[in-house]
Amino acid sequence: MMHVVRQHTGWIEVICGSMFSGKTEELIRRLRRAMIARQKVAIFKPKIDTRYSTTEIVSHDKQKIKSKAVEKPEEILHHALEAQVVGIDEAQFFDNSLVDICQKLANMGKRVIVAGLDQDYLGKPFEPIPQLLAVAEYITKTHAICVVCGNPANHTYRKTKQKDKVVVGAADIYEARCRNCFVPPEKEEEEESQ
Ligand code: ZN
Repeated sequence: MMHVVRQHTGWIEVICGSMFSGKTEELIRRLRRAMIARQKVAIFKPKIDTRYSTTEIVSHDKQKIKSKAVEKPEEILHHALEAQVVGIDEAQFFDNSLVDICQKLANMGKRVIVAGLDQDYLGKPFEPIPQLLAVAEYITKTHAICVVCGNPANHTYRKTKQKDKVVVGAADIYEARCRNCFVPPEKEEEEESQ
C-alpha cells in the first residue's frame, strides 16, 4: 500500500501584467491578508528599483509595505528562512536565478508570491517572468487601461527614446496601451523615417 505523507506544501503565485495594472497593489493585498492571519511574511524587491522607497514596496497609488532591497536572488533565500509567506516585487529586474530560488522556497513549504512585468517596452517577454509562469501553481494577469482608447491594456509603452531594456521610471516615462494602440519603438521609427 502506498504511504501518503501529509506535508506542508508550498507553492508559487505570479502576478503579472503591464505597468499601471495594479500588480503591486495586488501583491500588497495578499501579503496584508497573510499578516492579518499572523503568518510570518518576508518581502523583497531588487535594489535597482528605488523610485519611491528603499525600505518599502510602494504601489503607484501610494500603498506601502515594509520590504528588504536585495541585489541578488540568493539573498532572498538567506533572509526568508523563517518566513511562511515570501513576497517579491518587480521581479523582472532580477536575473534568471530567481526561478530556482522561488522553486527552493516553495519546496521548503513556503507560499511564494511574485509580482513583475511580463513584457518589456518592445512588447517582448521579460525574463525571468516567463520562466516563473511555467513553474507557478497560480497565475494572475492584471490589466491597466489604455491611455489612448480606454480598452484593457496589456502593454507598456515607453514615451522616451531610450534604448536600454531597463529604464526605471513611472508615468513620466511609461504609459499603458492596448494591443491596437501599442507600437513597438523600432516600428515607430520606421514609420517616422518613411
Ligand atoms: Zn488602446
